[in-house]
Amino acid sequence: MPKPAPLSTPAPAGGSGGLLGAEGRGRGAARLTLLAVAIYGLFALNMAVQVHLGLMAAEPALWLSGLSLAGITAFYGLVRSGLGRHLGHDPSLTLPQSLFGALITAWGYAVDPPLRGAIIAIMLLNLVWGMFVLSQRQAFGLYLFGLAALGGAMGYGAVTDPVNFPPAVEALHFSFAAILMTAVSVLSVNMARMRAKLGARTAELRAALERIQYLAHHDELTSISNRRHLSERLAAEQLNQRQNGQTMSLVLIDIDHFKAVNDNHGHPAGDAVLRHFAATLQTTLRSTDFAGRWGGEEFLVVTPQASAETAATLVERLRETLAATSFDSVVPGLRITFSAGVAECAPGEDLHLAIDRADRRLYQAKQTGRDRTVSEFAPLL
Ligand code: GH3
Ligand code: MG
Ligand code: MG
Repeated sequence: MPKPAPLSTPAPAGGSGGLLGAEGRGRGAARLTLLAVAIYGLFALNMAVQVHLGLMAAEPALWLSGLSLAGITAFYGLVRSGLGRHLGHDPSLTLPQSLFGALITAWGYAVDPPLRGAIIAIMLLNLVWGMFVLSQRQAFGLYLFGLAALGGAMGYGAVTDPVNFPPAVEALHFSFAAILMTAVSVLSVNMARMRAKLGARTAELRAALERIQYLAHHDELTSISNRRHLSERLAAEQLNQRQNGQTMSLVLIDIDHFKAVNDNHGHPAGDAVLRHFAATLQTTLRSTDFAGRWGGEEFLVVTPQASAETAATLVERLRETLAATSFDSVVPGLRITFSAGVAECAPGEDLHLAIDRADRRLYQAKQTGRDRTVSEFAPLL
């Protein structure tokens, strides 16, 4: 006699190949389908005992055992090979397996008169097994299909073999099955509804978490890294430095006369300038460099494995790009310049001291006329 389709649960990590296939979600599906094969095998054994005791004819028992085992083994093959995943979203093929189980159960009912009452319980198991995977519609469809299949088997028995399937008893069996299956299917549909709600809530929480993680690392106005993220990346870069023994350079950039932009054109215009500036900065960086908003209209650029001279060259490229950038969309004719201070940070050196030195070079750039870069170990640019 059949058993229902397996549950689809996430697979534990580890191992590969063998009976269960490669790692991942499909592995859990294969494990449960293998369990289904084992259960079908036990029902086949049960039928063999019935045949041995003379309760069941050998031929229908053989057909039923043979076809049900062949069917569930074919399902196992589909799931194990990963083909099941291509046929639908559920790698366990829970719905087709459940429908197959319901059909086999009804068949078992028709060919096993002495134990047919017990077989009703197997139909319930079919419904319960899919409870954790099927959608509301699928669970309801499975219930209707199972009830119709069982009702068909009862009707067929009552018409063709009224001695073994007395119509009155079959009618009672049907009402018994209908009551139990309806109750179980109400639970199953409710469970599917709860899972759908839970799924939606989980998706909302995941989106909220992603947003929080994004905001924890990004500046809301300019969308580039914020100071917290920069500090984390700097700490990570310091660890790299310990391994590669290379100096990195830090560049502090400050937009010139930015207050005047706010004062003359309004705070929203100032915000737009910051956004434009950050975007320009981001496109100028090499893939190994990183930058972020250090605060207000100040930005920090980190150039790993680069001398102050190399970093200063990068800053000058930014200066050229910025000079060619139009801020007309913010304020027609607006020109934006910046001052920069560059410092080198040797492996193991205190970051704060290096940033402080860059800050002092920046101050020097401001003092000496703005729109320039002052770098350690280099003359004024
Ligand atoms: P300097 O060339 O010496 O750097 O002059 P400055 O005007 O750029 O520097 P100051 O420190 O006097 O002014 C910085 C201004 O930046 C003041 C502050 O209101 C403005 N600011 C800081 N953060 C934001 C922001 O997020 N949006 C806008 N619109 N303005 C900001
Ligand atoms: Mg400033
Ligand atoms: Mg400024």
